[in-house]
Amino acid sequence: MTKINNATIELVEGDITEQTTDAIVNPANRALLGGGGADGAIHRAGGPKILEECRKLGGCDTGDAKITTGGNLLAPYVIHTVGPVYRDGKHREAELLANCYRQSLDVALQNGINSIAFPSISTGAYGYPLEAASRIALRTVIEWLREHNGLKLVRFVLFGQRSFNAYSHALKEIATALNQDEAEFVDDSEE
Ligand code: ADP
Repeated sequence: MTKINNATIELVEGDITEQTTDAIVNPANRALLGGGGADGAIHRAGGPKILEECRKLGGCDTGDAKITTGGNLLAPYVIHTVGPVYRDGKHREAELLANCYRQSLDVALQNGINSIAFPSISTGAYGYPLEAASRIALRTVIEWLREHNGLKLVRFVLFGQRSFNAYSHALKEIATALNQDEAEFVDDSEE
């Protein structure tokens, strides 16, 4: 658990469809009409109401995010975002993946959402290397939380131990680097 600006970042191993946060994030495709992986699981658990709402949204660009209600899910909202398909790292994949996290958080804030659960976007069918994706996900969320007030909880729900370990490792590295920055910042201000 890491605290940033009154918000908590939490890593858990589990299933995104079972989360009781105000919103869960769906790693969707551009059509927003359902798919495999976490997307399929969310639509199965949430029922047809989510798909009905998605049909009216007219798809979603890569890196963008759109909101529906949660249907039969415990979470009242689903924020659908479209991660990049990983090719070779030279097709703006990192920037687009960061956009997914930022846009999802912006949409959450605009809708008065206090708590949100993310899966590991793009690291399944879309093939983004897990270690790199985990660093981008965590850095982007931390940066965003430092710049915005309102969200209380950002939970990463990692499917399987390999994903959980990658995110845990990345968070430790980033937290260490951040604490060093903060120590430097304090030193500067005391001069
Ligand atoms: P993408 O197309 O963005 O890669 P996937 O759903 O294929 O989306 O995979 C994204 C991540 O979500 C992968 O790490 C996958 O293991 C994970 N995942 C799959 N099902 C679930 C679930 N029910 N809850 C949380 N994560 C899940």
